[in-house]
Amino acid sequence: MTDLTRLTAAETAAKIASGETSAVEVAQAHLDRIAAIDEKVHAFLHVDSEGALAAARAVDDKRARGEKLGPLAGVPLALKDIFTTEGVPTTVGSKILEGWIPPYDATLTKRLKAADIVILGKTNMDEFAMGSSTENSAYGPTSNPWDLTRIPGGSGGGSSAALASFQAPLAIGTDTGGSIRQPAAVTGTVGVKPTYGGVSRYGMVAFSSSLDQGGPCARTVLDAALLHEAIAGHDPLDSTSIDAPVPPVVEAARNGDVKGLRVGVVKEFAGEGYQAGVMQRFNESVELLRELGAEVVELSCPSFTYALAAYYLIAPSECSSNLARFDGLRYGLRTGDDGTRSAEEVTSLTREAGFGPEVKRRIMLGTYALSSGYYDAYYGSAQKVRTLITRDFERAFADVDVLVSPTTPTTAFPIGERADDPMAMYLADLCTIPANLAGNAAMSLPCGLAPEDGLPVGLQIIAPALADDRLYRVGAAVEAAFTTRWGHPLLEEAPTL
Ligand code: GLN
Repeated sequence: MTDLTRLTAAETAAKIASGETSAVEVAQAHLDRIAAIDEKVHAFLHVDSEGALAAARAVDDKRARGEKLGPLAGVPLALKDIFTTEGVPTTVGSKILEGWIPPYDATLTKRLKAADIVILGKTNMDEFAMGSSTENSAYGPTSNPWDLTRIPGGSGGGSSAALASFQAPLAIGTDTGGSIRQPAAVTGTVGVKPTYGGVSRYGMVAFSSSLDQGGPCARTVLDAALLHEAIAGHDPLDSTSIDAPVPPVVEAARNGDVKGLRVGVVKEFAGEGYQAGVMQRFNESVELLRELGAEVVELSCPSFTYALAAYYLIAPSECSSNLARFDGLRYGLRTGDDGTRSAEEVTSLTREAGFGPEVKRRIMLGTYALSSGYYDAYYGSAQKVRTLITRDFERAFADVDVLVSPTTPTTAFPIGERADDPMAMYLADLCTIPANLAGNAAMSLPCGLAPEDGLPVGLQIIAPALADDRLYRVGAAVEAAFTTRWGHPLLEEAPTL
């Protein structure tokens, strides 16, 4: 009998549509898998068995009535706990929202439901999406299914771990500085940060509004494209949502090709701090692109050197403002409200008790950077650097169609290794941050295992804004060539739990 949890999303949808299996059977197989192994992985903060089975039954009923099913109808999905879900807890990995049941669905949640995708539950994440390891979750860390003593990436480690441990064939992440791509890289999965504004932020708890972008996570490039298409598109409820047609991502994923494509290798994404095995796999990928008919050129984006510094001023500044709404009065946790204290005191006690150390660090950093005496020196300078980075991209894309780099400088590091060293943690996003600052589209896909530790390595592809389809065209070509030559690391070599 086929193990329903090992199939791709596209295969699962086809089997449901043809009646070979039912959506309920598929949902149940995944819920059983979660019940059996998630104790070890801790990918989920909340499993919604009832909701999932009801959604699956609705798909089977539709089919029985002869209604047309969408391309992902009945496929289970793990949703990052940053998107509001009506009637289902949403915590953002924080104590400050513990027990909060949102009264409404995020636009993305609505679109998943409209596509008849079955939401299994909400996944673990670094508190307010601040982190690169999921160790900052107020509910305990998630483990990397490849090695349970290691991190699954962050902030969306729950989503990537759910995919890599076959608890769900699809997942949703959010990427402010790399939180979709970095977890994808270290778990051997595919993750895409769409062009900024490509997927609605309405109902997605805000961290840094000018950078935050929701996007698809999957085990294959085609699955990611199918999910991308289901969630993308203009939303009048999000003022930064792009009012333009969704790039033809599925068509691109079905027609992988790099012949004649100009590929840029950015010089700045290499050097000190990059693991040898990561660079080896990356260089092999570049060689593969050449063999497949791409023209590879090396180029320089000098301002990328300052991307990390600019990000760690801009993101905290925006978060210090966004997180002001968690005041203990509107929703979520309230501490110290015993009738004797003022609203200010209650707010202060609530924030003291509800936010973890990294969130507090960022609020303080951001408040400082925005203060009148330092605004120009810090926030103002960071915004100028952001413009320089955008110009570097513009210059690069005048010469090449896509840029490639390793997604992360290293493979998954041990849980605890960087927990007390914020700077070391921040370095995990060295290669992913520039695309957030400029608003470009970017993907991470597996490019083998590092020889020294046998852990997954990610290849990052960056495309200009609104050219998300290019990622899928290149990604599909690389994935196919890779699988033919070396096999698919996750599907063939991932450890069984
Ligand atoms: N790791 C980065 C940070 O801590 C990025 C997080 C994200 O993309 N949400 O801010």
